[in-house]
Amino acid sequence: MENKGSMLMQRYELGRLLGQGTFAKVYYARNLKTSQSVAIKVIDKEKIFKVGLIDQIKREISVMRLVRHPNVVQLYEVMATKTKIYFVMEYAKGGELFNKIAKGKLKEDVARKYFQQLISAVDFCHSRGVYHRDLKPENLLLDENGNLKVSDFGLSALAESRHQDGLLHTTCGTPAYVAPEVISRKGYDGAKADIWSCGVILFVLMAGYLPFHESNLMEMYKKIGKGEFKCPNWFPSDVRRLMSKILDPNPNTRIFIAKIMENSWFRKGFYSKPLQNETEGKELAPLDVDVVFGPCEKTSTAVETKHDSAKPTNLNAFDIISLSVGFDLSGLFEVNDKKKEARFTFRQPASAVISKLEDIAKCLRLKVKKIDGGLLKLEGSKEGRKGVLSIDAEIFEVTPFFHLMEVKKSSGDTLEFQKMLQEDIRPALKDIVWPCQGDQQQQQQQLQST
Ligand code: ATP
Ligand code: MG
Repeated sequence: MENKGSMLMQRYELGRLLGQGTFAKVYYARNLKTSQSVAIKVIDKEKIFKVGLIDQIKREISVMRLVRHPNVVQLYEVMATKTKIYFVMEYAKGGELFNKIAKGKLKEDVARKYFQQLISAVDFCHSRGVYHRDLKPENLLLDENGNLKVSDFGLSALAESRHQDGLLHTTCGTPAYVAPEVISRKGYDGAKADIWSCGVILFVLMAGYLPFHESNLMEMYKKIGKGEFKCPNWFPSDVRRLMSKILDPNPNTRIFIAKIMENSWFRKGFYSKPLQNETEGKELAPLDVDVVFGPCEKTSTAVETKHDSAKPTNLNAFDIISLSVGFDLSGLFEVNDKKKEARFTFRQPASAVISKLEDIAKCLRLKVKKIDGGLLKLEGSKEGRKGVLSIDAEIFEVTPFFHLMEVKKSSGDTLEFQKMLQEDIRPALKDIVWPCQGDQQQQQQQLQST
């Protein structure tokens, strides 16, 4: 049904695949009646239901269907079959913002304009009670006039599920844009988390690189947790000040959107025009969210479709910007698949992780040496093929109740190490490990290949 050239509900002709994310495929499509170009996001129903935030998604989707903002990808229609949900959206012809700027950092004024458009979009949606929770380059698109269009507003449950089971694994993408309180999986305020991500985006636009970027994932978590970053010397002092107010690791003291919008650097060249009636000029197909989410739904709640009266916001036409050369973000998102070490995540205090590791060592007849700074050295009791096997297990604190452990061979035979890791250590850790999607996939692949 999703193949190129096929029809969807006798209303849309599906075209090429525009992109693919963790949860969905996005296709170009054309409305057969109006010839309008659209993008259709196809998601497995099951994936949404697994997240268990159905009422929230239903509410946000119905709000998103009614709101219109020049910098938000509009949601035209939601359709469903038994197993899939189709989000019919505005097609952003200009593709991803970061492809355009892959050539180099932006001039201050240009970066400011995108940031103003981003903040306008985020502020607008927040005022309607809709949070993004997954602001990152893939969700910043451009239309044919070079206007910023934020996508996936109202689909926050997808972000949520990644945060729940995939965030801390490298195969699930970069945490570079994610607020510290989201990483530590404390309950968090969607508004404050979005503001953090906007700060990271502003930094990247102006610097040409990420504020938090370490090849070692653990180092990166630490820096994010402490809000430790350094502005390049070309950042003007007012941007530095704003940056440190946004990238404040404490969500309670982090700046509010309203304050960002009052900031004198932000305000430069920012004029607001009254927004036209949000639904004006568009025939919206009727939508019964309850029907769309139909069969799998357990609790039914009234869907709120009220929205506030329009408020002034930025409607500047945006010039198409020709950008200079030399900036490639792709390396930051690549995953190193030569696995020399294994990583585990735990929602436990460090002491619990260490004592579990000591138990395992006992069973495997390994000697344990504790070294300061969360490093444990495990040493075999007999000679292996390449001498005594010795393993380093390093534990990193993300928060007092959230830890990461990296296990790697420091000497001995690699095959012996891998065998012990797969057959003994991994299964023994199973009951205290906090699994993430990548781990499960990896395990399935291993099962299939054996
Ligand atoms: P994730 O699954 O982690 O949210 P993502 O945002 O990259 O990642 P999708 O939202 O499924 O995943 O989108 C996949 C890609 O499709 C995007 O990166 C973008 O390039 C393209 N895309 C999405 N929406 C549109 C749109 N409205 N117009 C044009 N291209 C789009
Ligand atoms: Mg997206």
